[in-house]
Amino acid sequence: MKTKLSNDYKADLELNITHIREKIEEAKKDAKGQDVTLLCATKTVPAEVINYVTENFGITDIGENRVQELLEKYDELNLENVNLHFIGSLQTNKVKYIIDKVCMIHSLDSVRLAKEIDRQAKKIGKVMDVLVEVNIGEEENKGGISPGELESFLDEISVFDNIRVRGLMTIAPNCEGNAEYSKYFEKTYAFFIDILPKKIHNIYSPILSMGMSDSFETAIKCGSNLIRLGTVIFGRREYK
Ligand SMILES: *Cc1c(COP(=O)(O)O)cnc(C)c1O
Repeated sequence: MKTKLSNDYKADLELNITHIREKIEEAKKDAKGQDVTLLCATKTVPAEVINYVTENFGITDIGENRVQELLEKYDELNLENVNLHFIGSLQTNKVKYIIDKVCMIHSLDSVRLAKEIDRQAKKIGKVMDVLVEVNIGEEENKGGISPGELESFLDEISVFDNIRVRGLMTIAPNCEGNAEYSKYFEKTYAFFIDILPKKIHNIYSPILSMGMSDSFETAIKCGSNLIRLGTVIFGRREYK
């Protein structure tokens, strides 16, 4: 992969992260008293750049969304003190490649996938943390459980011993502005507060993963405690 770690780029990264942290603190004033984890979404970002931000700016959580790309970078990543998440949609036949490498899968959206995560986790004696992805905008071409099926889905996957549901994740539809984003995020937060504790008992430190570059402040105000940011940290992606 092409590396872009010039001194100018290093300075940009530092400035971007500093500004984002200020915005997070500002948004938290109108939020629900929650802590917020900043996860760097690192698709198309070279390992060298990822290591630079984790080693220099206290970034503790990174997320990849393609299995192939994760495997290509994996050996080059410095994962000391860093949690590697899987945030993209996941094909059942690829679970085996990442099961031992990631701390959490954000995109659980079918019983078939749950079954395979459970099976592969069992093989290596791991309990895999997962988030259930909710398709809050009920968009046709998007992954995630539709809101109306969330309760029954949580029941169905409760049989898998090697999966631990830690919370919910959502990718909001593309919205025009904050008011429209709020609608989706508030709806997701309601599920997080009402449905999740009802279905999953003794849930440890529940996670609500929502908010990306163009919506993270709104997401925080609506109760998100984990935001996934790519563009605002690393700049526009030049290749896919
Ligand atoms: C790319 C990606 C992000 C980050 O998106 P930006 O708009 O670049 O901040 C967050 N979540 C997922 C699942 C992604 O694939």
